[in-house]
Amino acid sequence: MSKFIKRSILILFLTVLVLFGGLILFKWFSNISTNRFDKEIMSNHFKISYNMSDESCIEDVKNYLENNYQRITTDFKQTFDKPIEVKIYSDLESLHRAINVAVKQGLFFFLQPDVTDDWVVGTSTQGTIRIVSPINSGKSNRTYDDILKVVVHEFTHITTSKIRDSQCSVLEEGIAQYEAGQTDNENVSLKDKLPNSIEEMFSWNNINNSDKTYSIGISFVKFIIEKYGYDRFIEIYKKDYQKDGFDDGIREVYQSWVTSICEDKSNF
Ligand SMILES: [Zn+2]
Repeated sequence: MSKFIKRSILILFLTVLVLFGGLILFKWFSNISTNRFDKEIMSNHFKISYNMSDESCIEDVKNYLENNYQRITTDFKQTFDKPIEVKIYSDLESLHRAINVAVKQGLFFFLQPDVTDDWVVGTSTQGTIRIVSPINSGKSNRTYDDILKVVVHEFTHITTSKIRDSQCSVLEEGIAQYEAGQTDNENVSLKDKLPNSIEEMFSWNNINNSDKTYSIGISFVKFIIEKYGYDRFIEIYKKDYQKDGFDDGIREVYQSWVTSICEDKSNF
């Protein structure tokens, strides 16, 4: 091999090394900067990190979470052996920056799309809840009470992920909305949003059908829980219908829910 080729390969190798090294350093610094908070408090089941500017809402966040903890963990028969981390960001931009650092993983993290949508006011990733401050939810147009409900919504995600990680979005978002009492969609006409089949409904997610996923999700989940109970819901939640196929049991549940909406007899 000529000296020139050898040198070219070496330069290419070093360039790639420096680029990747730089990216890893960038990720490391981003991680540190998005996890820096002024204060931290512990309650019975939560560790809450926040900045001084948000001090006035911390008691509410803590009490709201603790008041819902027992009910949700009992509903799903789950326990946590260590406090759940809650991080409160002072504005929407800081929250989105932190979500992007937390969510984008792997060697090619920098190629993954950014979260910047104003409606994203909280997440739960790797057992940590991240939310925007209830006193400054910016362009999201959410009220103080809306954000408190979002914290419970995210806590529900953490609890149900112990039953089964990554369920279809309709069940996953539906149960989180139901447990958090996010019933704003209740007066929306569901007939217009009905899927054509159970297969179609289970393929929806918060990217391809965000509007339907949430409103149909809470309706379907509420129907299952109020008609058949939590045990039946958990049974359904545990299954991987997309991989194993839809059995007669779930088809029957789906059909009676569709009928209840079409007949408009119930408030599901
Ligand atoms: Zn959610």
